[in-house]
Parts: sequence; C-alpha cells; structure tokens
Amino acid sequence: MFVYADNAATTSVSKTALDAMMPYLTEFYGNPSSLYAFGQKAAEALAASRETIAACLNADPKEITFTSGGSEADNQAIVSAARLGARKGKKHLISTQFEHHAVLHTLAKLEKEGYEVTLLNPHEDGVIRVEDVEDALRDDTCLVTIMFANNEIGTVQPITEIGALCRERKVLFHTDAVQAAGHTPIDVKAMNIDMLSISGHKFHAPKGVGVLYARRGIALTNIIEGGAQERGKRAGTENVAGIVAMAAALKESCDHIEENAAKIIPMRDRLFEELGKIPHSKINGSLEHHVPGTVNMCFEGIEGESLLLMLDDNGICASSGSACTSGSLDPSHVLLSIGLPHEVAHGSLRLSIGEYNNMDEIDHIIKVVPEVVAYLRSISPVWDELEKGTRKHLI
Ligand SMILES: *Cc1c(COP(=O)(O)O)cnc(C)c1O
Repeated sequence: MFVYADNAATTSVSKTALDAMMPYLTEFYGNPSSLYAFGQKAAEALAASRETIAACLNADPKEITFTSGGSEADNQAIVSAARLGARKGKKHLISTQFEHHAVLHTLAKLEKEGYEVTLLNPHEDGVIRVEDVEDALRDDTCLVTIMFANNEIGTVQPITEIGALCRERKVLFHTDAVQAAGHTPIDVKAMNIDMLSISGHKFHAPKGVGVLYARRGIALTNIIEGGAQERGKRAGTENVAGIVAMAAALKESCDHIEENAAKIIPMRDRLFEELGKIPHSKINGSLEHHVPGTVNMCFEGIEGESLLLMLDDNGICASSGSACTSGSLDPSHVLLSIGLPHEVAHGSLRLSIGEYNNMDEIDHIIKVVPEVVAYLRSISPVWDELEKGTRKHLI
C-alpha cells in the first residue's frame, strides 16, 4: 500500500486545478503583457484569478501580487516592511522562534544590516500569547510577523487578536498563512492583517506559484527587478497557467473547508488515539488550536530519520518536521522552541493528511508505526539504557 501523508510538504494537483490551467499551457499561451488579443486572453485570465483569490481572502484584487511561492512572498513582505520602517527610523522587528526558514533567514539577513529582531517563544502548547507580543512592542517596532499555522505541529496562532493589537499600535502585521490557506477561513479585513503570504502547492495547485497580499497603501519593495509586471512590484513574465490553477484550487479548498475538515479530523483523531498508545510517546502542539490535518508526535529512544526510512519501506511518506530541515541531523527548531529536549525532539514524526486520504490508509499507518518503533527500540542503545534505568525517561 502507498500512503501519502506529507501534505504539509506539498500536495497533489487537483483535477479542478489541472483542468483550469491546461488551456493556458496548450491553447492560450500568449504573454499577458503583449498587446494583441491573443496575449490579452492570458491577461484576462490573470485578472480573473486575481479577483477569485482576493474574494477568498476578503481582499481587493489590487492588493494581490503574484509571486513564485510562499518563500518569495515572505521575503518581499518582510523586506518591504523593514524598508518602510527604516525611513521613519524604526528598525525593530518582532517574530517567533518557530517560523518557517523563509521568514527566519530573511530576518537574520536584516539583522546583519543593522535591524534588531526579537524572536518570541511559543508556549509549550505551540501557541504564541498576545501578551508576549504586546510586551515585545517598542516605539521603533516596524513589523510583527507571526505565522498563521505552524507547518510542523499545526498549531494556529491568535491572528485576529495580534492583528488588532498591531493595528492599535500602528505597527504593520504580516502573517505567513501558507499552512492555513484552504484549511481554515481567512479574512484579512476582520483579522486586521496588513500582509499575508500563501503558496499554491500547499492546497492542490502546482509548485512555484504564490501570493503576497499587501493592504492598500503599503508600498512593496521589489525583490525581483526587471519588467513592469504586477504593477512594477514583481518583475518576470507571470506564471499564467500556475496562477489560474492556484485560483481554482484556492476557491475549491475554501468552498469545502468544513466538509474537508469533517473528513480529515476523524482520521487525525484515530492517528492520535492509536499512536498515542505507544509507550513513551508524546503529542506535540495543542489540539485545541489546530489545523485539521497535521499530526506531530515524538517517540523516545529512536531517531526520526530511521523511522522515516522504515516507513518509506512500508509505502508511507511522512516527515520528521519540515522538508527544509530533513537532511540535517539537527533536531527541529520548532520542537526545540516548544521546550522539547534534544533527545526527545530527535524522535519526531509528522504525518500530515488531507481530504484525499482515507481510513484504510490510516489503518495501514497505525499498523506499521508501532511495529517500526518497537523494532527501532529493540536495536537502540539509548532505549537499552532507558530500559535498564541508567538513563532517565523524559516522556
Ligand atoms: C511551504 C511553506 C513555505 C514555503 O512555500 P514555498 O512555496 O515552498 O516557497 C513557507 N512557509 C510555510 C509555513 C510553509 O509551510
């Protein structure tokens, strides 16, 4: 059996998205910047996609900039806010320890340029507290950037409250909503969001296309220089087919949020219930504030990487955290940020399921994971010490 349980890393392209994009690859392949009618056909598709996406977010089409994905949108949002702040002598930015690296590395780059960055710690439940944001705000703060839903543990942050606080204090608020879009409702106006990033391939559109929403009046700084596409804010011929697919996929996901959640949550709960029976295991992240599909657990005495390889042998695609950190032997910065000791964070497993999964696949996972954990413990010197009592159990 093959089970794809890594939907937080990427998703398949839906039939709706594929059908929508196909004509723009084969038939209407003109450049949307061309003046002839054939190019204008592509320009019309861009405009329609912009409207669809704006409607899904309760934004204005003029507030939507198409990018190459979530990473570029994060980079552009943060750099833009930093440049706007610097003009007023405000060079302090607030974010969190458990952001995606597209945010963390951009902030680190700005720090080298002389900006100051405060990274807040989530609490043990994987949720940032509004009070902590309030305490960190300074007169020279130009941006608060806090992710909507965490990509490793799935916890949802109090976005509306943080947005209201920032609005009141006249500080720009950006959120990386890549893991939230299509899975939980987003309303940029009601939530007081100034800037927001999303990525098509996390909700059944192709890879390499995303959106930066920036509220009217926020002047963006170019990351990519060149032609005058996207009102001069993002050069490069638009990925027309990808954008059309992204609009179709976002609309489809947003129209089915509740229906999909009703399908996903029983599968997720069964995973938590059955895998939670494994001795010395731990569920990471509050279940109260959570996107539907993400399951993150630790199993003491094993290495997450070995677990993943053996799950792969059994047809299961999973992750130990984010795809960006796998390949390195450092434990996940997200799990460390919620206070897990290194030894425990090493034995992590993320299963992210979607509406295309089914209970038979969940049954396969809950059969295989306990067997593999037991086997890895049987050959683990660390587990041996834990059993003998020469090493203390941490979970
Ligand atoms: C996947 C992801 C990104 C990066 O998006 P790309 O389109 O792959 O560049 C950024 N932030 C979060 C939270 C993500 O999950």
